[in-house]
Amino acid sequence: MEFGDNAEEAAFRRSARTWLELTAPSRRGPGDFSEGTTGRQFVAACRQWQRKLYEAHWAGIAWPRKYGGQGRTLALDLVFQEEQSRFGVSTALFNVAIGMAGPTIMEHGTDGQRTEYLRPMLRGDHVWCQLFSEPGAGSDLAGITTRAERSGRGWRITGHKLWTSHANHADFGILLARTDANRPRHAGITYFLLGPLPSLVNLLFAAHLRSTGDFALSLLGPGGMLADGDAGGSGSWQQHVLTAPCVRIASGTDEIQRNIVGERALGLPREPRANV
Ligand SMILES: Cc1cc2nc3c(=O)[nH]c(=O)nc-3n(C[C@H](O)[C@H](O)[C@H](O)COP(=O)(O)OP(=O)(O)OC[C@H]3O[C@@H](n4cnc5c(N)ncnc54)[C@H](O)[C@@H]3O)c2cc1C
Repeated sequence: MEFGDNAEEAAFRRSARTWLELTAPSRRGPGDFSEGTTGRQFVAACRQWQRKLYEAHWAGIAWPRKYGGQGRTLALDLVFQEEQSRFGVSTALFNVAIGMAGPTIMEHGTDGQRTEYLRPMLRGDHVWCQLFSEPGAGSDLAGITTRAERSGRGWRITGHKLWTSHANHADFGILLARTDANRPRHAGITYFLLGPLPSLVNLLFAAHLRSTGDFALSLLGPGGMLADGDAGGSGSWQQHVLTAPCVRIASGTDEIQRNIVGERALGLPREPRANV
């Protein structure tokens, strides 16, 4: 059995390696983010890298061209992955989007969903997470009990998911829920595309920062007014307190986030707009 490259793969490997050597940080060198798993810097680096891949036509190598991919073979995709793995970069943040949600949407989604979701995945605009596992259903996914019921024009989902990697950075999620309890346990399950989660995460994160900051200040007492080297613990709690108000504004103020949750997630009437 021959595992070597054919002529096309060998040429593709050379050109991938040349581009990576010019563009990617080296392993263990400055800017290496290959070992990261979470944190804002890691997420920002992953998004930037995915954008570079897209712009240089290395993203979605085996995806059809009409969805923003390169229309090449899976073998060429593997060649690129292999070469890329030698560098200080990571695309793990996009595994659920590009590896799972994207192909499912291509196969089963509507044209509207394909237009809305596929290219932004390849460009690194959107991080997706996977909400499959539950306390009583991991290896045996047919055991899921989260249920989805029609509610107005949407669905009401009730249940408990866990182990949701990158949920804190995700813009969208794929979720399995039981929609027909009368079917055998391997059937009656529906695959949902989920999202307005970031607004909720933003709101909760801002509130969390504020309350933990207030608590830290109450423990620090007058020491809470000190900064940098004068403060114990190099002033990290003081920094935390000063940062908390920014988070209520950055990425959209709390008021805007509440509007998004109210209007898009809960389907409440639109707030009157001055320009309408
Ligand atoms: C780091 C990490 C990240 C994860 N990220 C996600 C995520 O993003 N989204 C998501 O939905 N889930 C995620 N998961 C969950 C993961 O899919 C489940 O942990 C996995 O499917 C195992 O399920 P469980 O934890 O319920 O264990 P169980 O299924 O309860 O298994 C426990 C033990 O029983 C054994 N066992 C179970 N059934 C059988 C059987 N029939 N025959 C033989 N042995 C059996 C298993 O091998 C295992 O040793 C993540 C898990 C980890 C560890």
